[in-house]
Amino acid sequence: MIQTPPIVVALDFPSERETMQLVEQLEPSLCRLKVGKELFTRCGPTLVKQLVDKNFDVFLDLKYHDIPHTVAKACAAAADLGVWMLNVHALGGEKMMAAARQELSGQGSPLLIAVTWLTSSGQAELDALGLKTTPQKMVTRLAQMTKNAGLDGVVCSAQEAPVLRQNLGDDFCLVTPGIRLATSQFSGAKKDDQQRVVTPEKAMQDGASYLVIGRPITQAAEPCKVLRTIISDIG
Ligand code: C5P
Repeated sequence: MIQTPPIVVALDFPSERETMQLVEQLEPSLCRLKVGKELFTRCGPTLVKQLVDKNFDVFLDLKYHDIPHTVAKACAAAADLGVWMLNVHALGGEKMMAAARQELSGQGSPLLIAVTWLTSSGQAELDALGLKTTPQKMVTRLAQMTKNAGLDGVVCSAQEAPVLRQNLGDDFCLVTPGIRLATSQFSGAKKDDQQRVVTPEKAMQDGASYLVIGRPITQAAEPCKVLRTIISDIG
């Protein structure tokens, strides 16, 4: 069986029209899709189901963070949409994550992962919160909590992937945003609001399981061409 390349295209669009304009150029055999807060808030479960019905694996990136019961029930609602993967915020704590895991423990449940420390945040944001630690230590700590709660993996910067791969083992899923292309050939080298960025090849070498890529693909003149180039670059 041919495996879908490990690329998840972030559909950060404000409308169904713009989303579908891109999706029509993509194929489920080439990539998975990520629906985040902007698109979900505008278009809701109907659009998610539309993408699932087109046979795309959908990562619902709503980063739930609330009391354990509320998060568990939100996860159940997300699973009912037929998504492939969904996430919670590890900062919500181990009890919250364990409640989500318990809710999604049946066969065929979507992958359940946790966001550790946002890739748009760095040392300055930790300092501002009065947290006397480094991004790397924070990520390692939150990822260990995630594993203890029985989740399938974490979202992290590819810069943290080697350490997490070493500490948490081969089965733990590492999903890495903050990916930027090495060259400006496709104007994909811009960092935008991401701080800790890594190229697709380096992220894969460092142990990432899936690469979340938004603007370098979605804002490109020829998105599918960029996608195919990345697929061939990561081999
Ligand atoms: O456009 P870009 O490639 O920066 O998009 C990255 C995507 O990954 C966005 O949808 C963003 O919400 C998401 N994300 C992230 N950092 C995290 C978790 C998710 O950038 N830690």
